[in-house]
Amino acid sequence: MRFKKQMGVEDTKNMWSMVATWPFSLQCVEKGAQILRDGGAAMDAAEAGVRLVETDETVDSVGRGGYLNAAGELALDAAMMDGNTLKMGVVACVRGFEHPVSIARKVMENTRHSILVGPHAEEFARKMGFTEADPDYLIPKNVWKKYEEEKNKRKTSGHDTIGCVALDAGGSMCVATSTSGANLRLPGRVGDTPIIGSGFYVQTGVGGAAATGLGEDIMRTCCSFRVVELMRGGMSPREAVETVVLTAHNTLLQCGLRPDCIALVCMNARGETAGACNHQGFSYACVSENEPPRVISVPPIIDKDA
Ligand code: ASP
Repeated sequence: MRFKKQMGVEDTKNMWSMVATWPFSLQCVEKGAQILRDGGAAMDAAEAGVRLVETDETVDSVGRGGYLNAAGELALDAAMMDGNTLKMGVVACVRGFEHPVSIARKVMENTRHSILVGPHAEEFARKMGFTEADPDYLIPKNVWKKYEEEKNKRKTSGHDTIGCVALDAGGSMCVATSTSGANLRLPGRVGDTPIIGSGFYVQTGVGGAAATGLGEDIMRTCCSFRVVELMRGGMSPREAVETVVLTAHNTLLQCGLRPDCIALVCMNARGETAGACNHQGFSYACVSENEPPRVISVPPIIDKDA
C-alpha cells in the first residue's frame, strides 16, 4: 500500500467515466456509457465506442471513409492499452479492414507482442477471423473524389484521431485510439496514434491520456506519457494536460519548429477529465456516472495570433 502511494497509484472505487477526442466521439461515449452503466469493462466500452466511429463514414479521419494516403490507400492505425497490466496492442498501416481497434486488441490479447504493421498485421487479422471489407464500402465515392482533387496539391491538410480513455466501476482504466492518419501521407508513414507514450498512455490507479493533432509534433514531445506522469505527481487533469500542451508547443518553438495542432484529453483515477489544445476549435466528448454525454469546447491555451 505504501509502495502504491509512493508510486502515485490510488486505490479507488469510483464512478465510471469516459472521455474522447472531438465531437464525433459523442456517439463513442454514449455507447461506452451503456456498457459502463451496466458494470461492463473499460476495455469493452472503449472498443465498442471506437468501433462506432470507425464505421461512421461521415468521420473523414477515422476508419471507413477516412483520408487516403498518397498512393490512394486507406491505411489505418489503432491501439489499445490495458491500464491494469500495461499491455498494449497496436496495428499500423492496416488496409482492407473496418475495425483496426479490434485487431489491435487481438494483438494485445492473443500474441506476446505489442505492435504489428502493414501486410503482416493484415495477415494476423485474417488469422484471427476478421473478414476484409468491400473496398467500395471502406472507401466511398466522395472520398475518391476528394482524393482526385487533392492528390497533386503541394500542400494538403486534414488529420484527426479518436483517442478515448475509459474507467469502469471496478476502477480499471484503458485507452483506445484509431485514425486514418494525416491526409495524403506517404505510404508507410505512421503518426503518434499507435505510438505508446505519444498518442496514448494509461495506468489504472493513476490516469490515462490520448492525443490528436499532427503526429510528428506529438511524437517529438511524448505528450500522453507526460500527462499521466504529471497526474501521478499530483496534478489535476486540467493542470496536467494544459502544462503538457503548453510545454510541447514552447519546446517545438525553441527548437525552431512551427508547432501544428497538439490536442489531448485525459482522465485521472477518479474519473475526472480534461482536454487542452494549442489551436482554436478543439472539443471533446465525455460522460460519467454523474454527468450525461456532452461535448466540451476547449479554448486554445496559446493565442497564436498574439
Ligand atoms: N495524430 C494523427 C496522425 O498524425 C492525426 C490526428 O490526430 O490529427 O496521424
